[in-house]
Amino acid sequence: MSEMACLTGCGEKAKTRGLCACCYSTARCRVNSKLTTWKELEALGLILPSTRGATNKPLDEALEAKRAKKDEASPAEDQAAPEQPEAEEAPVTAVPWER
Ligand SMILES: [Zn+2]
Repeated sequence: MSEMACLTGCGEKAKTRGLCACCYSTARCRVNSKLTTWKELEALGLILPSTRGATNKPLDEALEAKRAKKDEASPAEDQAAPEQPEAEEAPVTAVPWER
């Protein structure tokens, strides 16, 4: 078993694609937020390519994809109720006491 350190240098052990669980979830979060892409992270050497020659594990990738989807679908703060339309567009009807 080769235990390699997380590529970010956080001191944790790498678990997924060269990142520890924490950094990987952060990376996934950033990718989901469109702040970066897996490709960019790979290019920067902050994550290992998903396909490592013969050790391509489709299940791992599918699992990651599913988890990422699940994260996206999780209820977030921005699910808050939409602002109530203010009744500021009340019809300006003729005021009886005005001419
Ligand atoms: Zn880490």
